[in-house]
Amino acid sequence: MPGGIQTEVKTYQMFINGEWVASKTNKTFPVYDPSTEEVIAQVPDANADDVNRAVASAKAAFEEGPWATTTAQERGRVLFRLADKVRQNLPALAELECRNTGKPIVEAEYDITDVATCFEYYGGLATKVVGYVNPVPDNAMSLSLKEPVGVAGQIIPWNYPLLMGAWKLAPAIAAGCTCVLKPAEQTPLTALELAKWFDEVGLPKGVVNVVTGFGESCGSPLVKHPDVNKIAFTGSAAVGKIIVKEAADTVKRVTLELGGKSPNIFFADADFEAAIDGALFGVFINQGEVCSAGSRILVQKSIYKKFVDAMAEKAKSIKLGPPLERTTKMGALVSKEQYDRVLSYLDIGKKEAKVASGGGKSDKFAKGYYVQPTIFYDVDNNARIAREEIFGPVATVIPFDDEKDALKIANDSPYGLAAAVWTRDIFKAMRTVKSLRAGIVWVNHMQPTYVEAPWGGYKQSGFGRELGPSGIEEYLETKQVHINLNEAAIGWY
Ligand code: NAP
Ligand code: MG
Repeated sequence: MPGGIQTEVKTYQMFINGEWVASKTNKTFPVYDPSTEEVIAQVPDANADDVNRAVASAKAAFEEGPWATTTAQERGRVLFRLADKVRQNLPALAELECRNTGKPIVEAEYDITDVATCFEYYGGLATKVVGYVNPVPDNAMSLSLKEPVGVAGQIIPWNYPLLMGAWKLAPAIAAGCTCVLKPAEQTPLTALELAKWFDEVGLPKGVVNVVTGFGESCGSPLVKHPDVNKIAFTGSAAVGKIIVKEAADTVKRVTLELGGKSPNIFFADADFEAAIDGALFGVFINQGEVCSAGSRILVQKSIYKKFVDAMAEKAKSIKLGPPLERTTKMGALVSKEQYDRVLSYLDIGKKEAKVASGGGKSDKFAKGYYVQPTIFYDVDNNARIAREEIFGPVATVIPFDDEKDALKIANDSPYGLAAAVWTRDIFKAMRTVKSLRAGIVWVNHMQPTYVEAPWGGYKQSGFGRELGPSGIEEYLETKQVHINLNEAAIGWY
């Protein structure tokens, strides 16, 4: 990188205070290509000492470095230059992302394009952060100023590695924060490649640090650190709950994006072909390793049988294949751990429901964590496969009677990240949109995500919003300023 397929195992360093460093212990851990099960890199195994070093550098950069006086316009330009670097190196970054995650190369290319778009969006937004004049009932001027929250700890998952990094870094940089980013242990490589350009695009040392390590030994010290002002986390609900507890002692600002078990609702009057397509796309894109995956497919009883048959038939055309092949529509799961987890849910599912297609690992490949796109039907909404986030290519199809029944089932989940509804009836569509308890609702589509629009969950899918103008708000504090315009003494005593 940049350019060309790596053939030998590369040992990376991590990026702290503008320098490439090993961990204090000199320990590293392997990073894999999940489609071949081969080690493709070694990265530093950072622990609390390394996190302390990164946080100290982020704190110094926030308080003393040139960053504190860098104008919003210049921070915006930094982001535009970073976006340019990403676009110029798109093929190499996409290839590395593809090899490290197992996702199809075509999808990885979309991801990297979205990374650049995200940096551009927040590059533009940097100069649009404005405060207020408050109409206080006195001879005074009252202002609300927007200021950066300080040092941000950012912990991200493996499903969209560099894109999750961009969602976190872009608004933080635009706001004037400094960052310590911890990528997922499985997928740290593209974030490390990105860091190679930080100096060149004009990020002073310490403004963005990348530490590679494991959740408990590297993520947790970041969450507990007294000099970290905010934690932005995307990942599992289980870890999200730990983070809220660990952040409590230092009263950090916390935003959480925790995934879900999102309903994709199909009424009988929906365009049938578009519906089948949308049901499959909603749950199988990115091997189903998507926080907003439409993994509960709710289908009206009058079309249910035909719908399940058509889904199963069309699922045959989802080409499972090597991630780097351009015709591949589904690659390998990200890790052995995730593969075993998904396979265990397939066993559970076979006891809880009927299989319409797939149902196991793929026997097409000698190596790699390939799982067949699997459709379970006649699923009870109380079944484990309908309640727990599987994060793999596993669809559960659930029948419903009418609008009321559909909404009851859809909202009967501890999660509330996303939902979709398919119908040609505008009244039914809008009533459903209004009643769904979810942070994102699509009508006659599922999954398109835009940096311009807010993203985040209801209920146990988390709190706070990323992307759009709300995304930068999460990195800002509000300071009230009161300026007395009376020159005379108060005269109270
Ligand atoms: P995870 O454990 O929640 O990982 C997310 C991030 O949090 C990773 O960087 C992880 O580090 C870190 N982390 C783990 N424990 C931590 C702790 N105690 N303190 C601070 N940070 C910590 O998710 P996962 O293990 O990769 O996947 C497990 C399941 O989570 C999946 O099957 C899926 O259901 C769900 N998931 C959801 C999303 C989403 O977008 N909503 C994304 C990924 C996974 P490590 O990499 O070292 O674990
Ligand atoms: Mg983990």
